[in-house]
Amino acid sequence: GALASKSSKILIVGGGGTMGSSTALHLARRGFTDIRILDVYPIPSKNSAGYDLNKIAGADAIGLFGGSSDAAWDAWASDPVFTPYAHDVGKLDLSTGDTPRAKRLREKYEKLKSLGRTDVEWLANEDDIKRKAPHLKNADIAGWRGLYCGTGGWVAAADALNSVGNELQKLGVKNAFGSSGTFSSLLLKEDGSVRGVKTIDGTEWEADLVVLAAGAWSPVLVDLDGQCVSKCWVYAHIQLTPEEAEAMKGIPTMYNDKYGFFFEPREDSHLLKLCNEFPGYTNYQTVQPFGALKPIKLSVPRSHAQNPTDTMPTESLDEIKRLIKITLPHLEGRELINQAMCWCTDTDDAQWLLTEHPRFKGLVLATGDSGHTFKMLPVVGKEVADLIEGKLSEEKRHLWRYRPGAGDPNGTGRGGPDPKDLSELDGWKHD
Ligand code: FAD
Repeated sequence: GALASKSSKILIVGGGGTMGSSTALHLARRGFTDIRILDVYPIPSKNSAGYDLNKIAGADAIGLFGGSSDAAWDAWASDPVFTPYAHDVGKLDLSTGDTPRAKRLREKYEKLKSLGRTDVEWLANEDDIKRKAPHLKNADIAGWRGLYCGTGGWVAAADALNSVGNELQKLGVKNAFGSSGTFSSLLLKEDGSVRGVKTIDGTEWEADLVVLAAGAWSPVLVDLDGQCVSKCWVYAHIQLTPEEAEAMKGIPTMYNDKYGFFFEPREDSHLLKLCNEFPGYTNYQTVQPFGALKPIKLSVPRSHAQNPTDTMPTESLDEIKRLIKITLPHLEGRELINQAMCWCTDTDDAQWLLTEHPRFKGLVLATGDSGHTFKMLPVVGKEVADLIEGKLSEEKRHLWRYRPGAGDPNGTGRGGPDPKDLSELDGWKHD
């Protein structure tokens, strides 16, 4: 059944970020009249994993998100809140050699073809790739292969969040940012159900329903029984000259599962963003989330906004340099600026956690982004709104249910090696 009605008082913790702002947008568009977003920073929140120049987005995910990633690109391309931030330059999803992943990409290609898609191409070798991506003409990519998808490319992430923020204001969504927006605990009724949120300045915000969409902070704020492991990934920029940026205008987003990825440079700043690809880093600390009976060991995000001198571990920086050397050799040796770590939270099966917390009636969880949810910004809130209105399909309710034990206390859910802990790594801390 429905968890709230259109006149219910709803608080969204993390409403300045991706899943939270999308939830607010969909609820407001459906006519919910009393919504307030809470966040540490004003939207676009500087703590959001989406506070970034660009993110990969496309229409070629199969089986994830209950099948809704094509719908996401449709929304990027048609909803006026999002269209100015969608860059339909296409996308290369590449692998090195005859790997299991290359095989999966080939299967995905076959599947997309069988669905009648004409915007996908199989790139069998270096020459095929260089035809699609002339900017890789000097790249050392013998043996690479993969999928080209002409729909999608990248989205201007923080700008899109900002646009959602403007729309929320127009729709009458209220907010509280800073210490009056920073969650400190739930407020419970005598029967244990939720009656609101207390923030770190002592404000007690009353509510009929609370949505927890605090990204990597979610498992630190409220006990989620080990279902989410927060990890960081990293990025750096190269300041291109206007001429260098012009030469890379319109390039498809380039992703390789071993070496990393990069994007068309930004037109405004001429910044080129690069990321390596790896299992993420944890930051284990002893903390006591709301609802935990005693302090527990959890990976706790370390905010870049609050630790602006943090850069990235040397091994990641070396991998980004390797990516440049292999794919863009003319930029080898250039300074890597704006280095940062940014935080997501992984579930074991990489599916969202979108459900009511079984111990706290009136608390809806909208988290477990698993590092691939920015592309879903226009549509993830629809799923949360469906959950709140009792309209989510049985299949999706099952996919996104509360599922401890299916969780992964070691954070190995992505496959591949275990994530390293920041405490084992050097080069990132400068305070
Ligand atoms: P966030 O957007 O991080 O929002 C969480 C919010 O909670 C923040 O605004 C934060 O300030 C707030 N918060 C925290 N603590 C509190 C508190 N105590 N009280 C109130 N509010 C609080 N995804 C893609 O789809 N494509 C990509 O190419 C891609 N690339 C990525 C590259 C990197 C380097 C990283 C780190 C992530 C990438 N992602 C990508 C993942 C994507 O950014 C995340 O999956 C998504 O942004 C997470 O959304 P969220 O709403 O769960 O969390």
